[in-house]
Amino acid sequence: MKTIYNFSAGPAVLPKSVLEKAQSELVNYQNSGMSVMELSHRSSLFETIIQQAEALLRELMNIPDNYKVLFLQGGASLQFTMVPLNLAQNKKAIYVNTGSWSKKAISEAKKLGNVNIEVIASSEDKNFSYIPEIKKEDVPQDAAYVHITTNNTIEGTAYYKLPDTGDVPIVADMSSNILSINYNVADFGLIYAGAQKNIGPAGLTVVIVREDLIGQSEVLSAMLDYNIQAKNDSLYNTPPTYAIYMAKLVFEWIKENGGVSQMEKRNKEKAALLYNEIDASALFSSPVNPKDRSINNIPFITGSDDLDKKFNQEAVTEGFENLKGHRSVGGMRASLYNAFPKKGVEALTAFMKKFEAENGGNN
Ligand code: PMP
Repeated sequence: MKTIYNFSAGPAVLPKSVLEKAQSELVNYQNSGMSVMELSHRSSLFETIIQQAEALLRELMNIPDNYKVLFLQGGASLQFTMVPLNLAQNKKAIYVNTGSWSKKAISEAKKLGNVNIEVIASSEDKNFSYIPEIKKEDVPQDAAYVHITTNNTIEGTAYYKLPDTGDVPIVADMSSNILSINYNVADFGLIYAGAQKNIGPAGLTVVIVREDLIGQSEVLSAMLDYNIQAKNDSLYNTPPTYAIYMAKLVFEWIKENGGVSQMEKRNKEKAALLYNEIDASALFSSPVNPKDRSINNIPFITGSDDLDKKFNQEAVTEGFENLKGHRSVGGMRASLYNAFPKKGVEALTAFMKKFEAENGGNN
């Protein structure tokens, strides 16, 4: 098989050992004569899978007992609606606008007529290249929550210090850095993440929510109601069973490899390799404020659209897949999630040096 390095922002690279384990169990799961895909979601075999997945996630993220873990569908995008629908009916909800995904979260929330949305900070003035500071005085203390995006997948910024919001719970879209950096779950009221970056295949969305924030509603559609999903242990309807099984295998892999702290250490090392290359280069540069740089999604540019295009074309022939920057930003973007190997970053930096030597850089 051809060796490639997959820099995709998501769906993204999965650990090879996880794929191999899934392959070995694909046709006959634990001698049942059935694939996990064929198991009833009410079967004891599947119940064990979902329970183990939850227990592993709780262990890896040190999730306190007063938080529910939900395995849902609809992607992180459905949470843009579910969060305000469940937490902020007839209330005020605060948003920080740090990128394309925050913007979508804000515009979805605004569609709900009875939620009062206020954006208290934004970095749109500088193409979302930094994380804006928020002071406690900026946060109306009667708000239901403050919504942040802990890692801005497209723009390549991340929060390393959470804002002080006083007593107002923080709701975080953690889609692109869940399990890749150590956050303290107790600092959040709710965390949500699409699975397809650090957790497993697309189709699964993880929600971690403090129990006291889960409301009671007579009118919410069952599928959109955290209360109903929680009461049914995410089995109100048929959940994405295979994606949950794959997530369980990924959680096991993270645990075997030292847990989230070890993931964070490795991710920082990988990111430093690439940032050092970018910063030492006369050709490549990072558009992001250094202190806010993401370790998961690293955009870089040459400053010339033609050279960016040439780089992206040559990169593909060298086996570097999905390096092209998001269509809204251009340039290049390397997504380095947990399963992305360090040797892939080393190969990329070697290629960048070669490209620079051939295309007019001075270093
Ligand atoms: N939020 C962030 C930070 C993302 O990176 C993404 C997906 N790239 C989304 C939300 C949307 O996720 P989904 O496709 O699962 O709806």
